[in-house]
Amino acid sequence: MPEKVVIIGSGPAAWTAAIYAARANLEPLVFEGAVTQENSEKGTLPLGQLNLTTEVENFPAWPYVDASILEQFSKSALPPERFANLEGYYSSKQAHQGKRSAYGPEQMEYMRQQAVNFGTRIVTDDIVKVDFKKHPFILTSLEGKTVETLSVIVATGARANYLGLPSEDRIKNNGVSACAVCDGALPRFRNKPLVVIGGGDSAVEEGSYLTKFASKVHLVHRRDQLRASKIMQKRAFDNPKIELKWNRVLKEVVGTDKEGVTGVRLQSTVDDKTEDIACSGLFLAIGHTPNTTFLEGQLQLDENGYILLTHPHRTYTSVEGVFAAGDVADSYYRQAVTAAGTGCMAALDAERWLAAKGIH
Ligand code: NAP
Repeated sequence: MPEKVVIIGSGPAAWTAAIYAARANLEPLVFEGAVTQENSEKGTLPLGQLNLTTEVENFPAWPYVDASILEQFSKSALPPERFANLEGYYSSKQAHQGKRSAYGPEQMEYMRQQAVNFGTRIVTDDIVKVDFKKHPFILTSLEGKTVETLSVIVATGARANYLGLPSEDRIKNNGVSACAVCDGALPRFRNKPLVVIGGGDSAVEEGSYLTKFASKVHLVHRRDQLRASKIMQKRAFDNPKIELKWNRVLKEVVGTDKEGVTGVRLQSTVDDKTEDIACSGLFLAIGHTPNTTFLEGQLQLDENGYILLTHPHRTYTSVEGVFAAGDVADSYYRQAVTAAGTGCMAALDAERWLAAKGIH
């Protein structure tokens, strides 16, 4: 018997889709991704991008609460083997003592558990190949298992591009971030100089946003012209807290394991000069890559590899019975809450599509 719905992915879109699909008796099967070295290096391990962040202050329903209450909450909500994934946040030397919002990894464990509570089945593996030309569709996992399914929700997300410098990897999550909206308001960035790398709309948007908190934002771009739209360029030029650093690339992130980022070393792209800038944070805004390689030739993608949605306000794709949710089909909003919203939409779309075929 084919599955009614398979959900591929394990971020906010995937778990929200699973919660809705499970509650609609569709008995969803989720492929949450494989735990492999390659996924670790690419930033595509199970639980998605939110699992790589610290506090998530903009997801509704998480006002500040004592960290000890969150520990109690996690212990009560999760089975011991999943609580173990979070234990370090409560017991390590760096554990937060005061009030805070839930961390990304806490939220992801809670969302996953909520889906499990309603009967979602989970396979910890990647889907590496799909055949959408046949129906039921056929999905093949990294371990070589095949699954037949009547409908699919793709929610594999996108990964932020990093430069791949060893120093950047070493200090990731300790002052190096690829999401100003997620991390910008953290205490370590307040009233301190920050550096943003990139010259597109994201770099200007992130830089402008960070000026709310930072004493100054150095916007570092490898050319002498921004790629950003004119209106965004004006925003950067008019902001007295943004200083453009033209024709420079990041050579090294300076910092220690204890203090995190303390500065950056820049390299000129026109001569061999280098320059050191003191800063408490480095934000990469050099684009995102959607996780869609396994869909090539099967589903219509845009020129940047994002899944093309074919109907306004729906999660339909170019293949009937295949739905897309979250960042894999959204290069614009890219927020946990919008991803969760479209996950809900995809489950409802799948449910209605199956119901029209007499499958309940
Ligand atoms: P993007 O437009 O592709 O810009 C990426 C920037 O990063 C470019 O300036 C690029 O430099 C630079 N870059 C890429 N690789 C680099 C490297 N290895 N080292 C140094 N610099 C590097 O990406 P985006 O800014 O994320 O925007 C993506 C899409 O979302 C765009 O369509 C954008 O318009 C849209 N967006 C819109 C808004 C808005 O309207 N408010 C906000 C955010 C994003 P080069 O210029 O030299 O190639």
